[in-house]
Amino acid sequence: MGRKLVAGNWKMNGTNADLKEIEALGIAWAAPRVDIVICPPATLVSRMAFALGGQPIRVGGQDCHAEESGAHTGDISAEMLKDAGARYVIVGHSERRADHHETDEMVRAKAEAAHKAGLTAIICLGESLEQREAGETLDVVGRQLAASLPDGATASNTVVAYEPIWAIGTGKVPSVEQIAEVHGALRAGLAERFAGEADGIRLLYGGSVKPDNAAEIFGVENVDGALVGGASLKSTDFSPIVSALESSL
Ligand code: PEP
Repeated sequence: MGRKLVAGNWKMNGTNADLKEIEALGIAWAAPRVDIVICPPATLVSRMAFALGGQPIRVGGQDCHAEESGAHTGDISAEMLKDAGARYVIVGHSERRADHHETDEMVRAKAEAAHKAGLTAIICLGESLEQREAGETLDVVGRQLAASLPDGATASNTVVAYEPIWAIGTGKVPSVEQIAEVHGALRAGLAERFAGEADGIRLLYGGSVKPDNAAEIFGVENVDGALVGGASLKSTDFSPIVSALESSL
């Protein structure tokens, strides 16, 4: 098994003044067995990488274009993120799938671009409430997994984040049984396709992870960490989540 991972997704939040939250993340030294990544808005990637100095925390982008360069006003390529100091990039977040009509095929192309640039892709998938209530969850995430992951996915270049859409930013969290069921199915799906790499591809849970529910979630089989939105914005919320993962090892 690879190292566990907590990734923070700041979404469209944060300006220069918020870099103080990074400086306050002394927790990184106290969690030597956990990888920590923060994905700020693109405007802060470079400054955050600089502000981290020697802290063992990596920086990630929140999206990238599938192409290296060209006439795509407003977009950012994986190479540009790498050049700015990023080591990871989130692709296929449900907010991008919804706001920008991103399909599994587009997400897969973005993940390929991330790999080509030497970034680790955090590939997001997850069902809507309607799909969950219709009993379609495993079919939906199985299809997303098959279509969003490139053939070249390995334990070091790919992380999968299971994020039920109905749990993102809502305070609602699936039961540990529901998380275990989906993560078990995702692991089996990875094993079918990626054989030797499957156990090392980290499976994160994301959706309303907070300091008070993190330990329970990290106790679930096949959960290798978390993708954290709202609770990653303040070091006082993010640090206890990182500590909970370190303590679970
Ligand atoms: C996310 O956006 O990836 C996320 C998990 O958000 P939150 O933790 O706020 O639910």
